[in-house]
Amino acid sequence: MGGRLTVYPVRWRHLLSLLIVFALPAFAGWYEKEETIMGTSVSVKLWHPDANKAEQIMADVMAEMRRIDASLSPFIETSELSRVNRTAARAPVPVSRELATIVDKALWFSERSQGAFDITFASVGHLYDYRKQQQPDEQQRQALLDAIDYHLIELDRDKSTLFFKDPRVQIDLGGIAKGYAVDRGAAILRRHSVEHGTVNAGGDSRILGDKRGEPWIIGIKKPRGQRGDSPRDQAAIMLPLSDTAISTSGDYERYFIDTASGRRVHHIINPDTGQSATGVVSVSVLGPGGFDTDPLSTTVFVLGVEQGLSLINRLPGFDCVIIDSRGQVHYSDGLAPPVKPDQK
Ligand code: ADP
Ligand code: MG
Repeated sequence: MGGRLTVYPVRWRHLLSLLIVFALPAFAGWYEKEETIMGTSVSVKLWHPDANKAEQIMADVMAEMRRIDASLSPFIETSELSRVNRTAARAPVPVSRELATIVDKALWFSERSQGAFDITFASVGHLYDYRKQQQPDEQQRQALLDAIDYHLIELDRDKSTLFFKDPRVQIDLGGIAKGYAVDRGAAILRRHSVEHGTVNAGGDSRILGDKRGEPWIIGIKKPRGQRGDSPRDQAAIMLPLSDTAISTSGDYERYFIDTASGRRVHHIINPDTGQSATGVVSVSVLGPGGFDTDPLSTTVFVLGVEQGLSLINRLPGFDCVIIDSRGQVHYSDGLAPPVKPDQK
């Protein structure tokens, strides 16, 4: 008796799933996924002729982002970074090739910027909590300030070990890890022959190809825009881009206003003072890869307009847009709008 009632629905279902399996691959189109990872919104968008494969690729990208977060987050006690911060002042600690490569790159930018980019900012920086509106008091800041110094990091590139020459030293890769992560995501897309796509993590984006015949339009946010504005109204500048990386550092991402001084306390720290960098409100850097544009946007933010532009103009393949605290926009040589003869 059960036969009649059960057999037909089952066959029906088989037929349906067959239809779905054969129908899905025909869905060529744009696919998109977004998750909160690394304390920020991570998204991937791509064009693919096959829906199932697109889903698989996007899942792979997200898994890679979660892996990087689990290893580099200072907020996860079991991360490799946390372990290094707990132990590297006692004796050289073995680290993964990946962490060694990222620290190596960070040190390179420290050298290039006379210490404006410095992952030991965290020696003081770990005392800031922007959500809880906490900052180090004067005494704490003074006591830790000279522990912000990248020379206190000893990286043995051959042995892949890290040693901190001062027990007060802490490192944080928040100024470089997301750029590294979007490059890793883009590599996954490319391995799967994706020609048009973007991988984004907070202020860092890696753009693959164009948007099928037109450029991707990336907006640089108005630093003091209104929350309710449409995306177009929130943008200070729209850039048509393809095949590039772009990283933006802004003082509006993580901040609070210090009630005593009225000053904006935000997450980009001037290593000379252990306090938030001033003078600039937004920096976007364009270049071939996020592993460079991410640390560079933080670096230029700390250096300010003049020194920041000068650094970018000396680096072939990189450009930047800086919005200063008066709202004026500055472009590097490669982006500067052409000046008409009568404007000179
Ligand atoms: P976002 O994290 O919003 O994308 P940035 O790319 O500018 O912005 O990175 C800011 C992060 O960089 C901070 O949250 C902190 O982890 C780290 N950082 C802050 N100041 C410095 C500095 N002087 N050198 C290196 N890293 C820094
Ligand atoms: Mg950055």
